[in-house]
Amino acid sequence: MLEDQIKTVRAKIREALDHRKEAKITGTDVTILAVTKNHPASIVTETLQAGLVHIGENRVQEAMHKQEVLPPGGIWHLIGHLQKNKVKHAVAHFAIIESVDSAELLAHIDKAAADQGKVMDVLLQINEAREPQKSGFSPEDFRAVVPTLGTYSHVRVRGVMVIAQATDNVEETRPVFAAGYRDFVFLKDALGTDTCDILSMGMTHDYWIAVEEGANEVRVGSALFGARDYSLKF
Ligand SMILES: *Cc1c(COP(=O)(O)O)cnc(C)c1O
Repeated sequence: MLEDQIKTVRAKIREALDHRKEAKITGTDVTILAVTKNHPASIVTETLQAGLVHIGENRVQEAMHKQEVLPPGGIWHLIGHLQKNKVKHAVAHFAIIESVDSAELLAHIDKAAADQGKVMDVLLQINEAREPQKSGFSPEDFRAVVPTLGTYSHVRVRGVMVIAQATDNVEETRPVFAAGYRDFVFLKDALGTDTCDILSMGMTHDYWIAVEEGANEVRVGSALFGARDYSLKF
């Protein structure tokens, strides 16, 4: 039952909050982002009925398909790499884009949001594990882009997103998440706004470590829904 899986995730989050060695400026209210990618649209309905409202998808097309067949509802987060030619759709169909990984993409989002008369919430994705195959700002590029964020009048930077490396020894992710927390604090200090408030870190195999290190949003798929079905076409 999905309800049982949610309970298990919540319990593990609570336990991780108890294990924190110090208070974090991200607080103790941890959002579960339900990652529904490669599951049918009906999973989104079940998720909303079970009381989770934040829905994570990593492809614009797949999310648009699901939104088309579902009644309105849910707060949709884009968590996968965004190509320039899909920015318009992403701005229109998501509440927040968590996977912003270049200044060029920021400029494209800013323009699309202005065209659509909205201010787009985004997170800056940082490749803290420095994996060559992963997208995200390098920690250096992130530090360099922060002072320029004021130039994007139709983008509101809400925080930071980090994906840890895949590893058999989950403890190895801890320094990566700790670096994500430090960069979040740096960003929040630089922006000086209350609306910089989301630190999205941790997935099924490592979310409790992420919460211990300061995450206030975890992106969980398999722990809620089991294995993904890659034969599904959207
Ligand atoms: C797929 C995905 C997740 C969820 O992965 P699980 O291991 O199933 O929890 C989280 N974040 C991102 C960016 C993803 O692409």
